[in-house]
Amino acid sequence: MEYSRQYLRSEKSRERHRGYDRDRYANNPERREYNLALAKKFRQENPDKMSDYVKKRRAKVTQVTVEDVDSQTVYERDNWTCGICGEPVDRLLKWPHEQYPSLDHITPISKGGEHSYANTQLAHLVCNMRKGARLDLTEAP
Ligand SMILES: [Zn+2]
Repeated sequence: MEYSRQYLRSEKSRERHRGYDRDRYANNPERREYNLALAKKFRQENPDKMSDYVKKRRAKVTQVTVEDVDSQTVYERDNWTCGICGEPVDRLLKWPHEQYPSLDHITPISKGGEHSYANTQLAHLVCNMRKGARLDLTEAP
């Protein structure tokens, strides 16, 4: 009995102290300066970590161009076959013919897809445009 009462009292006083410390730090500009200096020191001592972090962050923001994609290379890789309808694509057609070869992003850039060989395929211009329209229709709110 005596013990538990003492325990409760000390818990309470500890909590009071914790609250006091928090307030003091929040309102103490020196403490804030110290935290800022600490963060700066960390950045200086870990430049690799920091640049990795920045790179990842930047990649997220700009939906990164992962690599330079040469469309002709993709068309050759896909054997001049449309990745959407499966029909052959005539490489001699001229823009803006609807069967004109175009570079399709399998997962659209606007949906978080990346500009890479893995996420691109050859598609007829018209198939590419239809796919875009379909995505817009099905995914509109
Ligand atoms: Zn097609």
